[in-house]
Amino acid sequence: MSDVRNVIIIGSGPAGYTAALYTARASLKPLVFEGAVTAGGALMNTTEVENFPGFREGIMGPDLMDNMRAQAERFGAELVADDVTAVDLTGDVKTVTDSAGTVHRAKAVIVATGSQHRKLGLPGEDELSGRGVSYCATCDGFFFREHDIVVVGGGDTAMEEATFLSRFARTVTVVHRRDALRASKAMQERAFADPKISFRWNSEVAAIHEAEGKLSGLTLRDTVTGETSSIAATGLFVAIGHDPRVELVKDQLDLDQEGYLQVDAPSTRTNLPGVFAAGDVVDHTYRQAITAAGTGCAAALDAERYLAALA
Ligand code: FAD
Repeated sequence: MSDVRNVIIIGSGPAGYTAALYTARASLKPLVFEGAVTAGGALMNTTEVENFPGFREGIMGPDLMDNMRAQAERFGAELVADDVTAVDLTGDVKTVTDSAGTVHRAKAVIVATGSQHRKLGLPGEDELSGRGVSYCATCDGFFFREHDIVVVGGGDTAMEEATFLSRFARTVTVVHRRDALRASKAMQERAFADPKISFRWNSEVAAIHEAEGKLSGLTLRDTVTGETSSIAATGLFVAIGHDPRVELVKDQLDLDQEGYLQVDAPSTRTNLPGVFAAGDVVDHTYRQAITAAGTGCAAALDAERYLAALA
């Protein structure tokens, strides 16, 4: 059995690495589980990040994450590219099991496992991600000036994305499986009033088409008649929801109504003493690198104060 550490951090996105940086600088010697395949988090899958403060020319997502990683390591964070497979967060000493079955123990745990956007699950979707297919209008909208864009979805996020994208796009077509939106009345009215936005009701994307390595168009299928039609588009924004990565902890930590980890906001405290949560696994509202980093910092400070009170 390992020694009891001060703090273990699960996750290596902006939230996890920022928590690692702060706890390392506080001499807490954090152990960080980065994940086996996706160390660095969601930004490892993107190209340019233009809205993380401090980089006036922008920075490539993987470079930003490498910098965060190196900064945390410089102050003594111990980083392990492995998945956590089980946790017991209930006692004063928490246990965290890695993929080899080794059990690590700590007085505090910070959960920063992020969230995953839902995909359409169509051939070509992954290959064209960052080449016309996107899951975040705030992140990528700027790159779609004068493009013809399709937004898939009928909830608040889809309407928000559509109205945001209409600032840049030539046209925005909302594709929705039903004949009415789920979005709030106010969001719907804003979208209906926008002259650039049109709607394809009772429709779903049946196929994604590519030309010269970029998105060139879509095949739509009518969900009532089954008829198919083509639409030219160089932007596809998929806004059909996100799933927080809570599978590891959902039997021990409280979730909110949307299935995200519940914290005692504005703190990062969960329902269990010594367990803190940060980043997109908590946040279904902002979902940005800078907000994840911000709550990662808060979780580190909360953990630091919790540990100081134990001493
Ligand atoms: P994540 O970055 O998702 O990291 C979670 C980490 O937890 C991952 O490393 C994963 O491996 C790890 N993990 C999960 N489960 C386990 C486990 N069991 N064991 C060990 N590790 C585990 N935001 C911006 O501000 N600007 C942008 O330009 C921008 N562009 C984006 C482009 C794309 C394509 C995407 C998908 C997102 C973009 N975002 C952008 C959003 C931003 O990436 C997220 O808001 C941010 O990464 C969330 O950080 P996080 O630390 O909460 O989680």
